[in-house]
Amino acid sequence: MQILSGLSLNDIEKITDSLHASKFRARQIHNWIYLKSVKSIDEMTDLSVKFREELKKVATVTDVKVKVKQESSDGTLKYLLEFPDGECVETVLMRFDNRANLTACVSSQVGCAVNCSFCATGKRGFIRNLTYREIIEQVLTIQRDTGLKVTNIVFMGQGEPLLNLDNVLKAMKIFNENFQIGARRLTVSTAGIVPKINELANLDMQSTLAVSLHAPSHDIRQKIMPIENRYSMEELKNALKNYIIKTGRRVTIEYLLIKDLNDTLESVKKLVEYLHDLKCNINLIPYNPTDKNDYQRPSNNSIMRFKSLLEQSGKKVTVRLERGADIDAACGQLSGKVKN
Ligand code: SAH
Ligand code: SF4
Repeated sequence: MQILSGLSLNDIEKITDSLHASKFRARQIHNWIYLKSVKSIDEMTDLSVKFREELKKVATVTDVKVKVKQESSDGTLKYLLEFPDGECVETVLMRFDNRANLTACVSSQVGCAVNCSFCATGKRGFIRNLTYREIIEQVLTIQRDTGLKVTNIVFMGQGEPLLNLDNVLKAMKIFNENFQIGARRLTVSTAGIVPKINELANLDMQSTLAVSLHAPSHDIRQKIMPIENRYSMEELKNALKNYIIKTGRRVTIEYLLIKDLNDTLESVKKLVEYLHDLKCNINLIPYNPTDKNDYQRPSNNSIMRFKSLLEQSGKKVTVRLERGADIDAACGQLSGKVKN
């Protein structure tokens, strides 16, 4: 049995050829899958009933199950999806002020090997990579369930996308070509896998690279992100400079704010120094609590103070809105498990 979602037009043509149908049928099926996001072949109403019956003998729309769906009071939706091997990941849909902007936050791996001290995903360890089809299934699931079209995608769910780069790049190509989501509306967030950033630099991507810096100095970063021992902030900076030169794109620096740990005056100063020669925007992420550690979120006052001091350096700074914290859907809260 073939699974239709995730197939390219070419692949679908192979199926329609085998059923002695025209290439136009393949185009229709392709549109039903990616643009209209149907749940079943029966919903493909511009195909004859007879052809649908034949198609159903050899193909089905999806093999992914929605295990749990939760809705936050702010409208954020979180889905726990189950793949045929029983592994689960979350995917989140954020609706910002207007309906024109629907951002899906997708997972790239089951668990994560990077093990940042503040992150619930990291605590699970690494289980396996997702295939590119499992990545795009997340967006299709959202579209099928809500009947809405996703407009932006961020790789900020479970997993480190640059440690599953082949599948992530394939998924991005399909998001771009089949879902018709512009490359500039795709963002990949990484904990800073230097050799992979160098690889990306040569690809001339139009998508946004976001980097989880989270600390102003080697000492602090080492305490919260073990990856600092592998690829230091200094190496990271060289890789980012190279990336910026080669792609001509500005990067996004993500900075997690943890009370008394990296939100001090001293930290702002060092951060400004580190970033002064990098073409970047800065996204501050106030720490979201997880039950695996005892970090605290800074007060709103100190978040705003940090922001305005940082802005004095002339860079654009935003504070990430907390979304879906009441259903554990906010950054760093995805564990792949259902909590009761
Ligand atoms: N592995 C990638 C992408 C997934 S995590 C990365 O680390 O960049 C998405 C973002 O959520 C990262 O910036 C990550 O550092 C942040 N994050 C992790 N735990 C968090 C927490 N408890 N509160 C707020 N943000 C968190
Ligand atoms: Fe992995 Fe990102 Fe979580 Fe770090 S923050 S453990 S890299 S998912």
